[in-house]
Amino acid sequence: MERATRHSPKREAILSCIRSTDCHPSAEWVYNMLKPQIPDLSLATVYRNLARFRQDGVIRVIGSIDGQERYDGDKSPHAHFICRDCGKVADLPQVEVNPPEMAQVGRSENCSVTFYGCCNECLAKKTQN
Ligand SMILES: [Zn+2]
Ligand SMILES: [Zn+2]
Repeated sequence: MERATRHSPKREAILSCIRSTDCHPSAEWVYNMLKPQIPDLSLATVYRNLARFRQDGVIRVIGSIDGQERYDGDKSPHAHFICRDCGKVADLPQVEVNPPEMAQVGRSENCSVTFYGCCNECLAKKTQN
């Protein structure tokens, strides 16, 4: 099997799709966005390219929300907030986490911090009824 290093319009469309949004999309979201422009696109192609981007360190994975992996095209260090109710992912500034115990285990180079809770929209809905 050929290594997919050659120029591929689908590959580029998938990457630019992820980079053009801050909604931290799932593979299915990317697929639904691109399908109208690329009629022969398959979900398997999206998954394959996402796995490749992830391996290459071009994108990062935030985690699995409602059984779907969510991706971030923004590689700069930042923290995330995930709403447990609607699955929304919001960006937050990077949190400085350097506990004194770190010296006992090693030297950290980066950290990924994720907060879980209920977003303002879902909070508003809850207080309405
Ligand atoms: Zn929410
Ligand atoms: Zn992010």
